[in-house]
Amino acid sequence: MPELPEVETVRRDVEAAFAGRRVEAVTATGVRTIRRHGGAAPLIDRISGRRLVGTDRHGKFLLLRLDTGDVVVIHLGMSGQLRAVPAGTPPAPHTHVVLAVEGGTELRFVDPRTFGEVFVTGPDVPELAHLGPDALTGVPDAAALGRLLAGRRRRMKPTLLDQQVIAGIGNIYADESLWAARIHPDRPAGDLRAPTIGRLHASIRATLLAGIDHRGSSLADEQYRDLQGGLGGYQHHHQVHAREGMPCGRCGAPIRRARDGGRSTYWCPRCQRRPGDGAHSRQGSVERWCIPGAVTGLR
Ligand SMILES: [Zn+2]
Repeated sequence: MPELPEVETVRRDVEAAFAGRRVEAVTATGVRTIRRHGGAAPLIDRISGRRLVGTDRHGKFLLLRLDTGDVVVIHLGMSGQLRAVPAGTPPAPHTHVVLAVEGGTELRFVDPRTFGEVFVTGPDVPELAHLGPDALTGVPDAAALGRLLAGRRRRMKPTLLDQQVIAGIGNIYADESLWAARIHPDRPAGDLRAPTIGRLHASIRATLLAGIDHRGSSLADEQYRDLQGGLGGYQHHHQVHAREGMPCGRCGAPIRRARDGGRSTYWCPRCQRRPGDGAHSRQGSVERWCIPGAVTGLR
């Protein structure tokens, strides 16, 4: 599933290709994709003829701002892709919404599994009010992260995945951030002390930025594609995610995998000690940790 770095990569591409251009026509054939509307008419009426003035992102949601103040909200779901193609190109299977933009390029939403969606709403986007702050732009420092985690009994991994706590992190970047910060995924979120929260804040930020630098992660299913259909490159820099049995780039221990609520969690059993084993107090403030990307060329 596309996460913050993948959506941010697409957002930057959409901004570069389409900002300032007028939408000449809209086609919406995917009933599930536009399920927030009773039919295609509201989408067509509010977008057709309008100019795309800019883009935004909150967590995994991409926002296209129109000159009326309306906002087109796009969520890629599990398998959604946004593609820029020359008008007249035969539509790929599972093409659900098409924006024909002036200049002869179409912005197409393609989604085989139809968990993604497209809808249009007002400037304040009340539909996203339930989301926590954006993991990259909405959590400025460790103290802000500490306030989000304080008092939570839930384990770190599901807490980071909860979009109502912090928006944008999914399975890949949760595993990578926890590895970088040397935090076991089962550690209760509210138990972290200030130095560990500081490490986690830096690790989340560095991991997400590295993901963006590499234009996102495309896993074996290659379902994530950028606006031009290209693959991301950050999967080649993963330290734990989808690396079961391979050596940890920091200590050499084989990476472990556990099924966790229908998804897999990956961690290093030596660098990320289980809660209660005493490792954290033993290592204390002298424990070493890594910024993602600093450990490369080890596999
Ligand atoms: Zn390790």
